[in-house]
Amino acid sequence: MQREDFDVVIVGSGLAGLSMAMFLGQHGIRALLVERRASTSTLPKARGQNPITMEALRSVGVAEPIYAAIPPGKPAITSVISESMTGKVFYDHVAHRPDFSRFSPERSGMASQAKTEEAFAKRARELGAVLRFQTLFDGFTQDADSVEVTLRSLEDDTVYGVRARYLVAADGVRGTIAKDLGIGTHGYGFLKSVTAVRFRADLAKIAGDNAMVVHYIQNPAVPDGAGVLVSTDYKDEWVANMSADPERTEAQTHAVIRTMVGVPDLQFEVLGATSYDYAHRIADRLQSGRVFLVGDAAHVMPPTGGQGGNTAVQDGYYLAWKLAAVLKGQAGPRLLESFDPERRPYAEVVCTWQAANLAEHRRLEGVSEVLGRPMDHATMMFGYACKEGAFVPDPSAPTDEFESPDRPSGRPGARVPYAELAGLEGPLQPRKLLGPWFMAFSASSEGHAAAQAAADSFGVPIKAWQVASVAPLGAEGHDTVLVRPDGMVAWRGSPRGVESALGFVLCR
Ligand SMILES: Cc1cc2nc3c(=O)[nH]c(=O)nc-3n(C[C@H](O)[C@H](O)[C@H](O)COP(=O)(O)OP(=O)(O)OC[C@H]3O[C@@H](n4cnc5c(N)ncnc54)[C@H](O)[C@@H]3O)c2cc1C
Repeated sequence: MQREDFDVVIVGSGLAGLSMAMFLGQHGIRALLVERRASTSTLPKARGQNPITMEALRSVGVAEPIYAAIPPGKPAITSVISESMTGKVFYDHVAHRPDFSRFSPERSGMASQAKTEEAFAKRARELGAVLRFQTLFDGFTQDADSVEVTLRSLEDDTVYGVRARYLVAADGVRGTIAKDLGIGTHGYGFLKSVTAVRFRADLAKIAGDNAMVVHYIQNPAVPDGAGVLVSTDYKDEWVANMSADPERTEAQTHAVIRTMVGVPDLQFEVLGATSYDYAHRIADRLQSGRVFLVGDAAHVMPPTGGQGGNTAVQDGYYLAWKLAAVLKGQAGPRLLESFDPERRPYAEVVCTWQAANLAEHRRLEGVSEVLGRPMDHATMMFGYACKEGAFVPDPSAPTDEFESPDRPSGRPGARVPYAELAGLEGPLQPRKLLGPWFMAFSASSEGHAAAQAAADSFGVPIKAWQVASVAPLGAEGHDTVLVRPDGMVAWRGSPRGVESALGFVLCR
């Protein structure tokens, strides 16, 4: 059996796997991604990128293609809970959404999963990743030094081996790697089976000209009293999500679609249907030795709230710099142990947030009482601060897992706030400067020199700036703020502490 060597093998070319390949490439790590399908997904599933995802995509040079990939129509969103597309509106999500421009330099994207995967695959290849479709991952073994992966070409049935330093399981909701590792799951489990019916109809006069349209239908006349009607990349193609029922006839399905649209004699053509489950399930661990779980392989949530794909993309972003630093010898392998304590608590909250949204949107009996009302959208998205991980905790800072994004503490373990600093050569906004490097902002020339010297001594890339004050980053009373390549604050303190802080973060 022939054998190849790669630093990282990624299984799955969904949003998580492609993100992983792309961000590893950004850090100079060439990964092999294998996917059993013949191409990236063409199905209308996830749509939308939140500003945090867009910040990461900006840093890897793929923001513009994603912003450009909006469906036809004016670049605006309709997202409402309504009786039908033409009926009474009970709640308008867009009207109640806070203005996120206070928290991020990026706006939300509206690209579909299909277009996003296409753009990611292109960028990942440009950055050196090897993408192999029609390739089945057939098992693995690992020891202290490496992972041995068995692959099978679905084109000619050839079986071959790849040796890698790390394996990333981006194999989705039906993936087997986590189970093979004996990693269990927890959560509310199965919630509901849903059938998504794709249909062609001219709804322009009813739906208006917004590029993205979502109606969470609440209507006793549709199965289980609720459904979701969503637009696609094509102006005349729509998806009606309804509770699955194997006994439902074609005529009954058509009647449900007419009720959801609210036009009893609506003319349309059904293009196809798929069924999937809504579930709430989180892996008990995101790492086992040299294997990491990302995306739906790590956390499954109902689609209500649109964060499943976003969290999958962010997993790749937050893991890539750590894997790269370890593979390049810039960091000790213990750095990788911080992935689970940093990202799993967030995944738990997002999964529960989406399940709580589902309970609201679809009147899911029993779930609302357990979950309560969903957390405020802006706090859920921008307010997370890791309690444990690759940063030097500030004992004087608050320890809440979520903080108000309007009053960010800027503490180590939290996002570096979206704020403007007065640099020597003009204003600086740290969140606009993200890239495959550490960043240091120092209020003194000593701090600036110390940060540069510390990075040089550990051989990690850094961009260091001297600024008038770091107080806008919540670091009043400190001289220097050190920021990780993923935009999380690593440490804050005085110039003499920077070297040991960076060494601590890098597990050296
Ligand atoms: C109807 C629907 C609507 C959604 N809407 C949204 C939304 O609006 N916003 C949002 O953010 N999220 C949304 N989501 C969620 C989002 O689609 C998922 O969270 C996201 O696609 C997960 O990406 P992934 O890469 O983890 O998994 P997947 O996209 O499932 O990718 C896993 C891949 O691994 C491959 N694979 C598995 N095993 C093997 C093997 N042994 N060998 C080779 N390949 C293998 C599979 O073929 C698959 O391509 C929605 C989901 C659904 C179903």
